[in-house]
Amino acid sequence: MAQVFVGLGSNLSNPVKQINRALASLERLTDTSVKSCSKLYGSAPQGPQNQPDFVNAICLLETLLSPMELLSALQGIEQTQGRVKKRHWGERLIDLDILLFDNLTLSTPELTIPHSEVSNRDFVLIPLFEIAPDLILPNQGSLRDLIDQLETTYLYPLSLSTDLT
Ligand code: ATP
Ligand code: CA
Ligand code: CA
Repeated sequence: MAQVFVGLGSNLSNPVKQINRALASLERLTDTSVKSCSKLYGSAPQGPQNQPDFVNAICLLETLLSPMELLSALQGIEQTQGRVKKRHWGERLIDLDILLFDNLTLSTPELTIPHSEVSNRDFVLIPLFEIAPDLILPNQGSLRDLIDQLETTYLYPLSLSTDLT
């Protein structure tokens, strides 16, 4: 079984509900189970500022799917929930990114692992720390050190949790 961290984000149509719906879909994927999940966080949008704050979480999956099979499955879930691409880093119903896939590194036009922005994003690193504080990232050192180097940004824990936490 591969251990995979997946990032979830939403800022439209009841984001908490969208994230819970995506988690339920992840749990239903073939040969895949959701092992744990962070709390929910609110974060300022990265791209255009004239959109609602995001709700973010990360979860740990165990899967027998290959990285490309998992990417297709995530894209299927995004489509089912009605994700429509509006603008780069713009608003969306649900965004599912593969953050880490075991200790794999991969760079193809469709898939980069670890996710190319993982070490720059507080809304990824802080929830990751919650469920895997001793994590070492391929070629990027320890999660603790990456968090120490983070620029402070606008991230706040929500008093809500996912259906799985
Ligand atoms: P960002 O990647 O900066 O978080 P985004 O999530 O808004 O931006 P998308 O429009 O969701 O970007 O995805 C664009 C493409 O990124 C996808 O079609 C997919 O092929 C590619 N991609 C590359 N690496 C990954 C990854 N690790 N997880 C998910 N998608 C990836
Ligand atoms: Ca993303
Ligand atoms: Ca994405």
